[in-house]
Amino acid sequence: MKKNKNAIVIGGGLAGVEAARQLSKAGIKVTLYEMKPTKFSAAHKNADLAELVCSNSLKAERIGSAAGLLKAEMEYFGSLTLECAKLSKVPAGGALAVNRDEFARLVTEKIEADENITVIREEVTKIPDADAVIIAAGPLVSFSLAEEIGKLCGKEFLSFFDAAAPIITFDSIDMTKAFTQSRYDRGGEDDYINCPMNKAEYDAFHDALINAESADLHEIDKQKGVYEGCMPIEVLASRGRDAIRFGPMKPVGLRDPNTGHRPWAVLQLRKENKEGTMYNMVGFQTNLKFAEQKRVFSMISGLENAEFVRYGVMHRNTFIDSPRLLNNDFSFRTKPNLFFAGQITGVEGYMESAASGIMAGYNAAAMLNNTPKLKLENITMMGALANYISDPDIKDFQPMGAAMGLLPPLSEKIRDKKERYEQIAKRSLDYLTKVIL
Ligand SMILES: Cc1cc2nc3c(=O)[nH]c(=O)nc-3n(C[C@H](O)[C@H](O)[C@H](O)COP(=O)(O)OP(=O)(O)OC[C@H]3O[C@@H](n4cnc5c(N)ncnc54)[C@H](O)[C@@H]3O)c2cc1C
Repeated sequence: MKKNKNAIVIGGGLAGVEAARQLSKAGIKVTLYEMKPTKFSAAHKNADLAELVCSNSLKAERIGSAAGLLKAEMEYFGSLTLECAKLSKVPAGGALAVNRDEFARLVTEKIEADENITVIREEVTKIPDADAVIIAAGPLVSFSLAEEIGKLCGKEFLSFFDAAAPIITFDSIDMTKAFTQSRYDRGGEDDYINCPMNKAEYDAFHDALINAESADLHEIDKQKGVYEGCMPIEVLASRGRDAIRFGPMKPVGLRDPNTGHRPWAVLQLRKENKEGTMYNMVGFQTNLKFAEQKRVFSMISGLENAEFVRYGVMHRNTFIDSPRLLNNDFSFRTKPNLFFAGQITGVEGYMESAASGIMAGYNAAAMLNNTPKLKLENITMMGALANYISDPDIKDFQPMGAAMGLLPPLSEKIRDKKERYEQIAKRSLDYLTKVIL
């Protein structure tokens, strides 16, 4: 019966090849469309599948790190990209780095040798009809397909640009200096945390901010007009001493309980998830280098020891408003046989994209074969990412990579961070061992 079912995967990047592999493993015939080499995005150069467009690092291998845990979890599903990464590995300390050409060649060979997968080198311009369709066309999806996705989702649910502010963990905020209050006491009790600054602190912070070093922009991100409407905090700050104090750092409607006065300037932090374990730095989208973000933002009162779940970024990135559109199995809410996978869903990073491809492919196959879907609990990095991108409580959705802050705390408190993370990883892998094997 399952021989008659067919699936289409659009995009042979990191997510697409994993999705195709999962479908094939479940006995489904797959057609994988990849527009290269007839058409290349501005960042893709190699005709092979699974091209790494920038860094050749797949990040840390250590299981007690967010990136290491994600990879360890992917192993449970026979990840194709991990298999090829190990075969094309180059020395990189604690990171898994690869020879990118060899990596892409190996993935391509394995996909082409798979008898359930047919690769068609052609741009898809309309969302096709099949028993299951997975859109994995990446953050640089071709223009015509992006138009179709916009029509399907509604234009307001499709972003072309990632202008994200940093996110920090609640536990790392010094609440003896910061305080919870909504402006003019409107809104939820602890929806906002305020980090107050006096004039001297603000002036020192402002000087550091306007002199901090920015990250290089990719060629494709340098296009004129790209940053209109989402100005980096450092650019706004360079317009004058008070520009951000009258903008995102305005102190109006707030009173510092430690002084009884309105502060000179305030950074507001907004709850990022309903558990309140992560907070977003409101209005602080930035293009500063990550080390500079840590140095300069740690000057803000209450953030001296801030732990960054995600740093701010600015680059071209097409992604859908998944919390309003997708289920946590990566299916489209109003079209159950359509799935999305990869960076276009708002997961961020090579391995995160590949992991979402595994989940989408697995679930599309489960739908076709009438077998149980994969609903991973939040205690796994894969489950936490799937739940994050599909959580309707997340309002201003910005892409997210693997981060320990996404996982719920352990029931017992462990002070030592290394040990705590190892236990969090163990909790996930113990769970996967039970549910997968
Ligand atoms: C410039 C840039 C640099 C990045 N650098 C890093 C980094 O260093 N580290 C990191 O972890 N992450 C990085 N990312 C983020 C992300 O991890 C990668 O974009 C990753 O490749 C996403 O995987 P994907 O499978 O979703 O998309 P992709 O790997 O981009 O795969 C999508 C595939 O779909 C094809 N395609 C597009 N449209 C069509 C169509 N209409 N028909 C058929 N095929 C189509 C494309 O040719 C491509 O092969 C970067 C992103 C960008 C844009």
